[in-house]
Amino acid sequence: MHLARFPRLHFAHLPTPLEPLENLTRELGGPRLWIKRDDCTGLAGGGNKTRKLEFLMADAVEQGADTVITQGATQSNHARQTVAIATKLGLDCHILLEDRTGSTETDYNYNGNVFLDRLFGAQISRHPGGTDMNEAMEQCAAQLRDNGKKPYVIPGGGSNAIGALGYVNCALELLHQANDRSLRIDHLVHATGSAGTQAGLVTGLAGANSGIPVLGIGVRAPKAKQEENVFRLATETAEHLGKGVQVAREQVVANCDYVGEGYGLTTPATIEAIELFARSESILLDPVYSGKGAAGLIDLIRRGEFSDDENVVFLHTGGSQALFAYNNDFSLPEA
Ligand SMILES: *Cc1c(COP(=O)(O)O)cnc(C)c1O
Repeated sequence: MHLARFPRLHFAHLPTPLEPLENLTRELGGPRLWIKRDDCTGLAGGGNKTRKLEFLMADAVEQGADTVITQGATQSNHARQTVAIATKLGLDCHILLEDRTGSTETDYNYNGNVFLDRLFGAQISRHPGGTDMNEAMEQCAAQLRDNGKKPYVIPGGGSNAIGALGYVNCALELLHQANDRSLRIDHLVHATGSAGTQAGLVTGLAGANSGIPVLGIGVRAPKAKQEENVFRLATETAEHLGKGVQVAREQVVANCDYVGEGYGLTTPATIEAIELFARSESILLDPVYSGKGAAGLIDLIRRGEFSDDENVVFLHTGGSQALFAYNNDFSLPEA
C-alpha cells in the first residue's frame, strides 16, 4: 500500500508511541498489555480524528474550500480537532453539535471540548437529539454558498473513505513498530463509533496480510449495525486504495455489550476503567469512548478471553478533554 498517492497534509505528531502497560498487566493478571498512544497525535490535545484530518483537510484545500463544516455530539472530540486545524490553515469552521445526552449540566454544555471549540473560534450551532445532522450540514453549506463561500463538508467523526486512510496509515505504522521490536501482536482493541478508525485499521491490516484481529468495542450502535457500518466503510476504503486490497466480512468484529444506557452516558465500568488507567499507568482515558473501550477490554480479560502469553494492544483514541465535562460522574476523594 502506497499512501503517498493520496493528498495529505502533515500535522500529526507521528509515529505515536507504542508503550507497555506493565502496571496494568500485573494488576489484571492477564495478557501482556500494550498501548498505542493516539491520544498523543499533538493537535489541540490530540486524538484519533487528527490522522483522518490529515487526508480530509488536504482534500478540502485541494478543492479550494474556505470553510469547513462538520458535526458531532456536544462533547465531540472530532469537532475540537477539526476547528483547531481549520483555524491554523486559515479556514472558517462551522460545527453543528447534536444534543445526544439531554444533559442540562453547565460543564457538559460549555466546558471540556465545547470550551476548546470556542477557544479556537468555531461557529457553533446546537441541534436537538435525533436531528438529521447530514441534512443540517447540507443546509448550512447551501447557505454559505449563497453567501459566496466555498464550504467543504466533513462527515461526523471524519468517517468516510478519505478520512479512514488515516487509520490505514496507523495500521502500517503499528506493524512497523511491532516488527522493529519483534512484538507479536495477537489482538488490537479500541473504541469504535462512527466506524472510520476500525474501517481504516481493518483495511490496512488486511492489505498488509498481517493476520492481526481487530476488536472494536462499540459506544453507540448495536453489534449488527456497528459491524455493518464498519464493513461498508472498510469496503469503500479498500476500493479507494485500489490495487486489489480486500476486506472480508469476518475481519470486522465489534462487541457492543458495554454501551450501557446509551451514547455519551457513562457506566460504572467506564468510571472504574478511567480510574484504573489513571492510578496504575497515569494515563487519561475519556468518558465516552476510550473509557468504554477499556471497560470492555478489562471485562474480557477478567472473563479469561485472552491467554497470559498473548500480546494485546489497546489503541488509545484520545478524548480526555471531555473529562472536565463529566466531572460530576465521578465520586473522587474530598480535596
Ligand atoms: C471519535 C472517537 C472514537 C471513535 O472513532 P470512530 O472512528 O468514530 O469509530 C474513539 N475514541 C475517541 C476519543 C473519539 O473521539
